[in-house]
Amino acid sequence: MADLDNGYQRLKQEFHALSEVAKTLASPLELPALLDAVLRRIVDVVPQADVGTVMLWNQSAGLFRPEAAFGLDMTAMKQMGLRAGESITGKVYDAGRARLLCTAEEVAEAMADMRLFNREVFARSIRSEDMPRAVLATPISTGEKKYGVLVLETLTAKEAFAERDLPFIQALADLIALAIDREYLEAQLGTLRDARRSEYLRAEIMAILSHELRIPLSAIKGYSTALQLDEVDWTQEKQQEFLHLIEDECDSMQVMLTEILDSSLIEVEQLNLQREPIRLHQIAGDVAHEAQRRTDKHHVVVDLPADFPIVEADRRWIRQVFRNILENAVRYSPEGGLIVIRGESRSTDVVISIADEGIGISPEDQIPIFEKYFRVRAASGYHVGGTGLGLPVARAIVEAHGGRIWIDSKLGEGSTVFFSLPKARVVPEGTQPVPDAAPQPVMDNS
Ligand code: ADP
Repeated sequence: MADLDNGYQRLKQEFHALSEVAKTLASPLELPALLDAVLRRIVDVVPQADVGTVMLWNQSAGLFRPEAAFGLDMTAMKQMGLRAGESITGKVYDAGRARLLCTAEEVAEAMADMRLFNREVFARSIRSEDMPRAVLATPISTGEKKYGVLVLETLTAKEAFAERDLPFIQALADLIALAIDREYLEAQLGTLRDARRSEYLRAEIMAILSHELRIPLSAIKGYSTALQLDEVDWTQEKQQEFLHLIEDECDSMQVMLTEILDSSLIEVEQLNLQREPIRLHQIAGDVAHEAQRRTDKHHVVVDLPADFPIVEADRRWIRQVFRNILENAVRYSPEGGLIVIRGESRSTDVVISIADEGIGISPEDQIPIFEKYFRVRAASGYHVGGTGLGLPVARAIVEAHGGRIWIDSKLGEGSTVFFSLPKARVVPEGTQPVPDAAPQPVMDNS
């Protein structure tokens, strides 16, 4: 009668523990917290378990690693790494069957091949040199998928585990396997969702870029078709005008393609800076000339002091920063106006500014201006072609040099883009600033 009572009590405990575990598993906890909560239930039903560990097979490490535990020092235990087949964990995983070791001798024999390092880790984590007196280990697996082993150990002299403990512990291990399965599935689903989202974004970006590239291309096609029309006798002047327009559209396509290419180089971190001491006058002057050649509505001015400090930077990439900013200054001031490149020397860096008198940007649009693919929605319906990559590329380049980039703009009045670059620490002979050099003149319209 007493036995029956005990059996009934035990079944009640097991049922209660399993339903509690099932509830925990339905909660949105992360896997380690979930396993901790599950392990804590074990002692209610199997008080012989002084120590419990969930050992999971880590494919990339080629080792079983502890994922959760109770009754031992987890910081020490974290260093444990069992190879395939090693100790009780390795053997139970391979056999795919639970194992009950009821005597210290049986335990010692099954643990005999445990490597010295792991033995020491184990001793530190249970704070004793003594081996366990009894062990109950069950595989954690669902159908075909094997995840690891749940190991329970008795350290003190008390009643060992018994056969009747097996079904309960196996049920727990099965629930643990389900939790791991869910975690893995969710991770896979997350990766799939991320891949879908980036695929979708890529497609959308490709559509925008293709659309932007098609605008100048259609214009080129239109002008060249017009020039070849037999029925129309274009004047010399008109032909020149069409050829100029074709050239402009080709330039604008070239700018876009350079930005797309630079942006993909930066994406894969191929910036690979070739730093050398450079004088920014020359780069600013060249780029200003380039820009001036393409417009007669704007007046591009370089106003850098002759003794402006030398910076240590990559010539090719800094030229691109000037180009991207200056290009915008021209494109976003459709009425023309003055564009001025200035420089300020501070204690450890220099600040270059490029100011225009164009359409300007509203304060809310200034925040994401350096983000990739961001383009201000034109309220006026006036379309300026672009990729939304010029400023992000400039930012990546400036930041790779240890500088910063920012914008100050007023809607309807114009914008000034600033960027800083650290000064060169040692200025080599022959590259000293030239104090008596004439200030750069206003560029000619030619
Ligand atoms: P893109 O010019 O190719 O669109 P950018 O990254 O160079 O890409 O610029 C992002 C957006 O910032 C532009 O679409 C434009 O709306 C705005 N912008 C950039 N520079 C200026 C400027 N100087 N004046 C007004 N708006 C600007």
